Amino acid sequence: MKIDPDLRLAILEKVGIYSSRFSIPEPHILMTTKEVLEMPKDMTEGRRTSAYKYYGVSYLQHNLVFINVRKIPDEKTLENTIVHELIHMRFPYLSHGRRFNKLVRQGLRGKKFAPYKKRS
Ligand SMILES: [Zn+2]
Repeated sequence: MKIDPDLRLAILEKVGIYSSRFSIPEPHILMTTKEVLEMPKDMTEGRRTSAYKYYGVSYLQHNLVFINVRKIPDEKTLENTIVHELIHMRFPYLSHGRRFNKLVRQGLRGKKFAPYKKRS
């Protein structure tokens, strides 16, 4: 999709809405590979120069999310990507799989999640 100020704002609004539903602090959002490369290296370690390959990348330790807007083909994929990445932030212990996909579907349908509590 083509990045313009309206789309940027629409993405940040969606991130705000889903972050509040998922009870997570709103992550800082990067929308271009240039912005990824401009971040301090320690924040994007592991997926820095490879970030362009993905629709989205979560940097969990730093509450940072890359949404690869130019690579994303349409509105539906955009919404999916936002929710996918924010589910990573809310369920940091969970890797991809059926449970993860179910949570994404629930998130897309508007489900709210209570705050994440670290088990000690
Ligand atoms: Zn993922």
